[in-house]
Parts: sequence; C-alpha cells; structure tokens
Amino acid sequence: MQTIGIYGGTFDPIHRGHLHVINHVLTHELVDYLLVIPSGEPWLREHQPLAGGADRVAMCALAISELPQDIKNRIDVSPLEIDRSGPSYMIDTVEAVQANHPGSQLILILGSDAAEHLHRWHRAGELQELVDVLIVERPDQVPGKGIDIQALPISATQVRAEIVGSANSVAIPPIVATYIKEHGLYGSK
Ligand code: ATP
Repeated sequence: MQTIGIYGGTFDPIHRGHLHVINHVLTHELVDYLLVIPSGEPWLREHQPLAGGADRVAMCALAISELPQDIKNRIDVSPLEIDRSGPSYMIDTVEAVQANHPGSQLILILGSDAAEHLHRWHRAGELQELVDVLIVERPDQVPGKGIDIQALPISATQVRAEIVGSANSVAIPPIVATYIKEHGLYGSK
C-alpha cells in the first residue's frame, strides 16, 4: 500500500527546519510520497499568516525545486487549503486527499509543538481514525514526544524577525530570500 505523508503548516515562510523534516521522511522511507500543504486560514493560531497563500505556495515550490531530483519527484506542494474558503480544517484536507488517492495510507506529519494541540482540532477523533500520525521532536520542546530526527532549532517567527529590513537569514534557502525581497514580504527591503 502506498503511504502519503501530509505535511501542513503556515510555511510563513518555509525554512530549513521544514526542509530537514521533508528530506528526512522521504530519505528514510517513512512515506512514499509527500504533500506539502500551506494552510489557508489557520483557525487555531493567534495571528493569520503575514504572506498571502499564493506567496507561501510559491516559496514552498521554490525551496523544494532545489532538492535532489529523487526527493523532489516524490513531493507535491498543494494549494488545496489556500484554494478553499473558510477555516482550514485538516479533516477536510484529509478527506479530499483520501478521495484523490483511494487505498493509500495517509500519514499526518506534525512537529511536537503542533501535536500538542491535535486533540483540539476540528473533528479530531474522526481525523485520527483516518490517518496515522508521525510526530517529529522539535529542539525547543519537551523531549520524548516524537521521533528524534535531529530537527533544526529554527522557526518561521525567528526567520521573519531576521529578514525585516534585509531579507537575509541563513535559515532559509537563498532562492526563498530572493523571492521575499522581490515581493517585499515581511518588511524586507
Ligand atoms: P511559526 O514560528 O510562524 O509558528 P513554524 O516555524 O512553527 O512557524 P509552521 O509552518 O507553523 O512553522 O510549521 C509547520 C509544521 O512544521 C508544524 O507541524 C511544526 O511543528 C513543524 N516545524 C516547524 N519548524 C520545525 C523545525 N525546525 N523542526 C521540526 N518541525 C518543525
């Protein structure tokens, strides 16, 4: 049976911490195929994403375009959630992926911070019946709550702070920094 990883997030912007997760799950064959799905309106977050959905999808696609061929062949950046209006519920996303890939096993990939809130997600019980959950430990979180992939201590919050006025951050690939600068995102100049 084919396994499809679902990696959702705001990706505001995508950074090397996300790319490390993506590389790890594919090179270690934890999933056969991976869908990277930037969220439209993340309803549980205090703040909505700063960059628009189309920009976040574009930055994900650029970052992934630089991964080795055998890895990027197994990844799709999906506009599924940004194309949908209303709050981005993962259960709706999972049902849509399931309809497109009948018979596949779906694996929801979450950092240990995001996993803490899983029980509060919309229709959480049904969601957990439809997917397996793979939790990745983040460095700043209590250990032992997920698999240790030597995750990188990077957050998008930190990246956004670094690029104000400069668009420079070692935590994002240069191709993403260039996009940010060209589109004047996050107060870059
Ligand atoms: P922000 O700082 O804006 O809250 P973030 O860096 O946590 O953003 P998200 O887009 O919210 O990034 O994260 C998407 C998913 O990736 C979540 O499941 C999150 O836990 C996970 N994740 C984010 N950064 C890392 C990292 N450095 N290592 C492992 N997992 C991560």
